[in-house]
Amino acid sequence: MDVSIIGSGYVGLVTGACFAEVGHNVTCVDNDSRKIEILRAGKVPIFEPGLEELIHRNVSAQRLRFTGSVKEGVENSQVVFIAVPTPPQHDGSVDLSFIEKVAREIAGVLTDYRVIVDKSTVPVKTGEKVAESIKRYNRHRAKFDVVSNPEFLREGCAVSDLMQPDRIVIGAQSEHAVDVMKKVYEPFMAPILVTDINSAELIKHAANSFLALKISYINAVSAICEASGADVEKVADGIGMDRRIGRPFLNAGIGYGGSCFPKDIAAFITISDQLGVPFALLKEVQRINAAQKDRFLKGIRDTLWVLREKQIAVWGLTFKPDTDDVRSSVAIDLVADMLREGAHVSVYDPKGMERACELSAIKGARFCQSPLEAAINAEALVIATEWAEFTNVDLTVVKEKMTTPIIFDGRNLFDPATMAKVGFHYHSIGRPPVKPG
Ligand code: NAD
Repeated sequence: MDVSIIGSGYVGLVTGACFAEVGHNVTCVDNDSRKIEILRAGKVPIFEPGLEELIHRNVSAQRLRFTGSVKEGVENSQVVFIAVPTPPQHDGSVDLSFIEKVAREIAGVLTDYRVIVDKSTVPVKTGEKVAESIKRYNRHRAKFDVVSNPEFLREGCAVSDLMQPDRIVIGAQSEHAVDVMKKVYEPFMAPILVTDINSAELIKHAANSFLALKISYINAVSAICEASGADVEKVADGIGMDRRIGRPFLNAGIGYGGSCFPKDIAAFITISDQLGVPFALLKEVQRINAAQKDRFLKGIRDTLWVLREKQIAVWGLTFKPDTDDVRSSVAIDLVADMLREGAHVSVYDPKGMERACELSAIKGARFCQSPLEAAINAEALVIATEWAEFTNVDLTVVKEKMTTPIIFDGRNLFDPATMAKVGFHYHSIGRPPVKPG
């Protein structure tokens, strides 16, 4: 099928590449001319495992192309996907101006029937607004259908999530649009759930809020474990072995971050408030998340006494491993907090350094080329993102490089007994701290 994607970021670019991989002809559109230039030059502007090969293969096969023109995208496709940002506003509500602008732009160049699909995460009832807007600016009175098709990919494994999705949600009003969407997704051989547009939109916010709730639940349990001397990892195993609950998303840590969870939970709170059915539980999810980072920082302060002039190494800046994305990363907040308190912070991240360098919040940090370089003369090492690379570093060498062998592990990457044996004072989340020996 001929498909276009408007917005070629983490979602749009990976979706476009995966659609091309299964045989569709894809036009990826973006209004960031620099991004289009990079893509046309054969480079990939974001890091996502497997994406570069996928793009190169499909560009060579002439199934994938890039343009800055919405007109070109709409003309060349039967189905037009929208994957532009839906950032939060100050009050937590969603800024829908990117969606509205794209709807207007599509309407302006619409001459024949198209299925217009919203893939961005939007509040319930946005589909109605998109349809109204397209109708208003539809100069040629072309026919169209609006569909909601929320995206559930996770950064860091976006390609495999898109190629083997748990489910495809299609929210539509017309049977024809559903048939077209089923044809787009047929090659993926995934379960398809067809709903009305409002339900499809709501599924996305409800799903992300539930995942965040699961994280905050285990984080609240981790605080109780710390107070009682229990081990949160064992508790999570014991809870997670119950198939009704499941082990994923029961990893205690310094809290969720990233470009989706914080904004989507805030949005769902605002949406429910506006509908007159306040969702107080989600406010508690947010509170626990913020408290988790503060408690971790307090633990560092309690041990080091004052942070001013302390040399602190931080491993990990991205909001999760296997991505270069540092948007709303808790690791970045932690570094910023420690810098504000006067600490000297040396940071290292396998893929996030380039983007982190641009953030004014951590301007005073020293960016290092390796985990070991960051550890030189450190009075404490903070692990903020669970990159596999960190588990392969020789801990004896890390200890030799540091001034005092203290680790604060915000992602429970290591076994406490092993760390004690190597000679570290090791503090982790929801587990009793250990001393050398
Ligand atoms: P992103 O910022 O990485 O990409 C968005 C792209 O849209 C950018 O390249 C931007 O230049 C482009 N754009 C903005 N306005 C445009 C316009 N008028 N015309 C053409 N291009 C335009 O954002 P993202 O992370 O891909 O997220 C997109 C949407 O998908 C959001 O609603 C997000 O909540 C949702 N989502 C994101 C993820 C994720 O993990 N990143 C997962 C599921 C859903």
